[in-house]
Amino acid sequence: MSKRDYYEILGVERSASADEIKKAYRKMAIKYHPDKNPDDKASEEKFKEAAQAYEILSDESKKRQYDQFGHAGVDGQSGGHAHNMDDIFENFGDIFSNMFTGGGHGRQRTRTGPIPQDGHDLTQELTTSFQESYLGCKKEIGVYRYRTCVTCDGNGCAKGSKPTSCTPCGGTGQRAVRQGFFSFAQPCGQCNGQGFVIPKPCTDCKGQSRIQKYERLTVTVPAGVYDGAQLKLNGKGDDGVFGGHSGDLYLKVIVQAHSSFTRENNNLIAPLVLTYPQLVFGCQIELEIIDGSKVSIKIPQGCPVGKAIKTAAKGFPALSTGHRGDFVVITQCDIPRKLEDDAKKDLLAYSQKLGDTASKDEGGLVGLFKRFLGGY
Ligand SMILES: [Zn+2]
Ligand SMILES: [Zn+2]
Repeated sequence: MSKRDYYEILGVERSASADEIKKAYRKMAIKYHPDKNPDDKASEEKFKEAAQAYEILSDESKKRQYDQFGHAGVDGQSGGHAHNMDDIFENFGDIFSNMFTGGGHGRQRTRTGPIPQDGHDLTQELTTSFQESYLGCKKEIGVYRYRTCVTCDGNGCAKGSKPTSCTPCGGTGQRAVRQGFFSFAQPCGQCNGQGFVIPKPCTDCKGQSRIQKYERLTVTVPAGVYDGAQLKLNGKGDDGVFGGHSGDLYLKVIVQAHSSFTRENNNLIAPLVLTYPQLVFGCQIELEIIDGSKVSIKIPQGCPVGKAIKTAAKGFPALSTGHRGDFVVITQCDIPRKLEDDAKKDLLAYSQKLGDTASKDEGGLVGLFKRFLGGY
């Protein structure tokens, strides 16, 4: 079948400018548009023919080829043989904008099938013990997420069928409603404005392409993870709709408090309760820290209460660098509530030696004030 000349199809001179070509095509497209000529095969052919001509003549290099070699120069480039209505709307959709509404909302592209949509990211909490946050751990979690339907491989269609362009709206998802001189675009009721229909939905996902499922995942929680940290599991959110990308799963970490240890930046902190003599004379203390390892701490002579004593690199590893913080003990003094009689006697004797006048009536505190005020 010999092809008509592209310029002739669009009714323009060979010398026509790009703008003239575009205008000419628009005119043709409106004239032969399927919405205006429903079920008219001849119009549809003209419509396609015009689109094919425009595809070549609107492309500078293809136009040059065509001008020089005619159809032979562009055959196979235009995809002309495979042209269908959807490609036309897909490629030249902008041409049709304002066609029905007379401005404002443009006409949309047509669809033969669904547009893939990316799945949502999901967020949930993950609780670890304080020790697990120090050591790192593996945790099993349960997640409700949309997964691609395996029965239909996510296309929503029963076996052997496929989505089709919505006929009433021509796949645009919109229909022109005329009122007097004006026409308005309204979402197509047949396809809910989607432009396509699934004639035979997959029975498993009911044409939704995905099914919500409960899954158990094993999560590796890195050592050093902190309360409030967010772990990202790539692709473990909802799968996309109709083949879109999967979202990610974010886990917000909650670290439970520990009865003896706390955390400050990457330092592991613990109070160290010592007796008064231990603080006065100094001593060597061996402590078991959170991973079960032993740490030896030297308490200096005359150590004040509230002193921070560090053991390097025994704290939490930084998530980014792995560098460990320190283990820090804060000294405290153990004040006995009850003393054996002879211990009481010794302490009183010691107190008196310090110049304190502690007695049954005055008590230690009064004596202490006296001392501070220089009252003796
Ligand atoms: Zn429709
Ligand atoms: Zn399915």
